[in-house]
Amino acid sequence: MLYKKTLHELMDLVKNKKITPKEVYDSVLDRIHKKESEINAYVTVFEEYKENASGGELLGLPIAIKDNMHIDGKPTTCSSKILSNFVAVFDATAVKKLRENGATFIGKTNLDEFAMGSSTETSYYGVTKNPWDTTRVPGGSSGGSAAAVASGEAIAALGSDTGGSIRQPASLCGVVGLKPTYGRVSRFGLVAFASSLDQIGPITRDVRDAAILLSIICGHDPMDSTSANVDCEDFTKYLNQPISGMKVGVYEAALKDCDNVVQKAMDDSIKILESLGCEVKSIELPHAKYAVSDYYIIAPAEASSNLARYDGVKYGFRASNFDDLKDMYIKTRSEGFGDEVKRRIMLGTYVLSSGYYDAYYLKAQKLRYLIKQDFDNIFKDFDCIVSPTTPTEAFKIGEKADKPLQMYLSDIFTIPANLTGIPAISIPNGLGDNGLPLGLQIMADAFREDVIFKVASAFEREFNLRDKLPLD
Ligand code: GLN
Repeated sequence: MLYKKTLHELMDLVKNKKITPKEVYDSVLDRIHKKESEINAYVTVFEEYKENASGGELLGLPIAIKDNMHIDGKPTTCSSKILSNFVAVFDATAVKKLRENGATFIGKTNLDEFAMGSSTETSYYGVTKNPWDTTRVPGGSSGGSAAAVASGEAIAALGSDTGGSIRQPASLCGVVGLKPTYGRVSRFGLVAFASSLDQIGPITRDVRDAAILLSIICGHDPMDSTSANVDCEDFTKYLNQPISGMKVGVYEAALKDCDNVVQKAMDDSIKILESLGCEVKSIELPHAKYAVSDYYIIAPAEASSNLARYDGVKYGFRASNFDDLKDMYIKTRSEGFGDEVKRRIMLGTYVLSSGYYDAYYLKAQKLRYLIKQDFDNIFKDFDCIVSPTTPTEAFKIGEKADKPLQMYLSDIFTIPANLTGIPAISIPNGLGDNGLPLGLQIMADAFREDVIFKVASAFEREFNLRDKLPLD
């Protein structure tokens, strides 16, 4: 049952020559063959084990990669028809770093088309199911990665997070998901959605695995002009440290709109933090209530520009019957993109158009600055901020599919960290009435992942869902 173990447990076993990485790969592959028809976590599974002789610390162990990051020679579809025939010609930097540190790759995980969504329902390759209850969504957009890690179809995975896409699915699937500080991990080779918000991060079964993976994928990259010139470090050194005396702010403005079970889990989490010696106080972020509206101007604006490249000329799908060049563009994009992507492109084009640019886009940028100031002020007095990761437990498939505004509100707690660039993690913090997992979000100031790892690892010792994951 090697597929049930964490990455660090497997690293120890391989190091001590108790098992081989190929045995782990085969165990995960067997699990995929058993569960995939039910879960649909993958767009592409790599059936063949490729040895990694680099001798790096991951020792040949398999990682799953969200299908919006490139693995050289493998398809990158972004779960869109428009990239359904696209094969990557280089490794994303995060993938390259994993490879150089000994990883192998087991497949590309499903996502909402171009990472736009919170349920993995908009994938061209079909919805991913939540392994805790297959009538429910796994969250999104990294729903494939989170469902794979929770169900044993992967040991650990990479996801991407533009407004919550690592943390929200991690929360709904009972696993750990970390969005690092903007600029901490290179975005080179991550297909762009909203470039000023996108970050790559790990989805794992425990906090140690998240620290191990971040320590590998972080670091400056000249191939990404927004990559920060900050040295890599070994984040595992922040695990298992005392956190007494830490000042923790609770962001509770939106708490009253959450499900009762989410409020209850939050109350319990505060008690745990207090029992660990933290000083916990409620805080106010006056502009954060506008974060979702702000995001739905900025993210579509950037998306409309980033997605202009899919025109049927350079790569990807091209419509087959057209009259002239313009007709080819129109038919390719009409047939190649799904509804949610089209909605974002139209919204983004509108808010950037002359006459509306000042009223919407420019105003949204000013608001983004005010939200950042709110956080800067809090971090003068507090080490971290906690909140629920998402206002509800996993919802039913189809429940919000035709209600975009309700879907957008899933990210009410996660979006501020993207707008401000700060790091944030989701760790399990309870089970709701339906036996479904809930998540606690911990946010810290920019480049203070050390604080996040200290608090998350202390919390995890008091509460975790390892034994309850749907791995049998
Ligand atoms: N759910 C948000 C959206 O639909 C965030 C997605 C993401 O983080 N990639 O845009």
